[in-house]
Amino acid sequence: MSSGREPAPTAGNGPTEKCGVIGLSLSDRDAAFPAYYGMYALQHRGQESAGIVTHDGFQQHQHIAMGLVGEAFEESDIEGLTGTAGIGHVRYPTAGSVDKSNAQPFTVSFKGGSLALSHNGNLVNADTIRDELADVGHAFTSDGDTEVIAHDLARNLLESDLIRAVERTMTRIHGSYSLTIMHDDAVLGVRDPQGNRPLVIGELDDGYVLASESAAIDTLDGTTVRDVHPGELVILQEDGSGFDAYQLVEHDQHAHCFFEYVYFARPDSVIDDTLVYEVRRDLGRKLWEESGVESDVVMPVPDSGRAFASGYAEAADGVDFAEGLMKNRYVGRTFIMPNQEARERAVRLKLNPIRSTVEGRTVTIIDDSIVRGTTSKQLVSLIRDAGAEEVHVRIGAPPIRAPCYMGIDMATREELIAADMDPSTIAETIEADSLAYLSTDAVAAAIGTDRSNLCMGCVTGEYPYDIEGEPTDRAVSRPAIGEDEPRS
Ligand code: AMP
Repeated sequence: MSSGREPAPTAGNGPTEKCGVIGLSLSDRDAAFPAYYGMYALQHRGQESAGIVTHDGFQQHQHIAMGLVGEAFEESDIEGLTGTAGIGHVRYPTAGSVDKSNAQPFTVSFKGGSLALSHNGNLVNADTIRDELADVGHAFTSDGDTEVIAHDLARNLLESDLIRAVERTMTRIHGSYSLTIMHDDAVLGVRDPQGNRPLVIGELDDGYVLASESAAIDTLDGTTVRDVHPGELVILQEDGSGFDAYQLVEHDQHAHCFFEYVYFARPDSVIDDTLVYEVRRDLGRKLWEESGVESDVVMPVPDSGRAFASGYAEAADGVDFAEGLMKNRYVGRTFIMPNQEARERAVRLKLNPIRSTVEGRTVTIIDDSIVRGTTSKQLVSLIRDAGAEEVHVRIGAPPIRAPCYMGIDMATREELIAADMDPSTIAETIEADSLAYLSTDAVAAAIGTDRSNLCMGCVTGEYPYDIEGEPTDRAVSRPAIGEDEPRS
């Protein structure tokens, strides 16, 4: 956790939530099995817990458990989840919050019916809304921001219709959110007005689906229709025949998370009309243009460095491209290791260089990002020990200098190697012969958008949301919550 003036990366709103969400409305087939398969396709977005809630027209059914999708569900669990409407969630692991009370979908029953919510993102004003709702009698069972959205929406649903209730909640919550929601058997999708996290609409033979990434729609043999627009509410028709869309809040500028393209999303997903794999290849090409270094062999750090390295090697034209680092697939992400010593050991367990590829040669390794610097430092030393003459490091993103408050577990400022070191000092620290990162302009060009439509808070330290104690990069402010707030 951070100390001093700087708030923790969660901005005091409970655990960060970098997750995968799905929602389905089918004509006459239970939604649970397709939700389960879709969640498998979203497993990379969260491995801590998995859950599905369905509605059969009369009541909700739910199964939520810790672990990977394959571990969390038995066949009989899925068979018990009847109903043609359903939503699902996979949750990202973050230290200190491995706890079932934060597993999702979050459900609540109230006078106006039942609600279930799956959330990807992180609100930065959840505490204020929670305090206000607690004062009028709402009892909270978790420290998460998803429960705050659920209670706020339930309260608004007692006073207005579904569309107006969602609109009102959207004007109160501030931060990053892609949501799938089920109100009784109506399935909804909502994306925050700046579109920080992805959310797509897909069509199946017998219904419609909303999912964090299009790869989940492909897995269900569906067709991607389009992204949910920032600030839009999509309501799937209950008979599976279509959907209605309402643009509830408009923002001139968007704040798409660039790190989705760089690291988080699957390369085979299309986000905001752009194939992630192609963005990564292009980032690799640009990396060569900006800071290419002559070497005998270019090697990706698997798996995430692959597309970058293939683009880099293609632009370098003639350089030997080799998969010279072999990955042990059975070791989890280094990030979930409890301390630095365990993280260092994990890199050694995870990656092994092929000696004959590097011996006596000048080697360039390409990775998508440096966070703490553990991976790069270990890799440079492994490759040198395997006989390389020189080891250069090229990174397909700018230096990560500041925490992410929008839901990516990105370490605190103290842990980020680039927070107070320039690239040449980092090169010395990781003992590389040279190190270069990509520029922010190159990132925007590869994603195909204007720099001002991206969230690059972790790079610039200036955020597209109004976060306590942090500067913003645009005119945004937290909504006024409380007595002066106009009620519609
Ligand atoms: P580090 O060793 O802390 O510098 O982490 C860098 C490595 O972690 C890179 O190989 C990235 O692919 C990977 N990585 C970057 N961001 C994350 C994240 N938020 N969660 C898990 N792994 C990450």
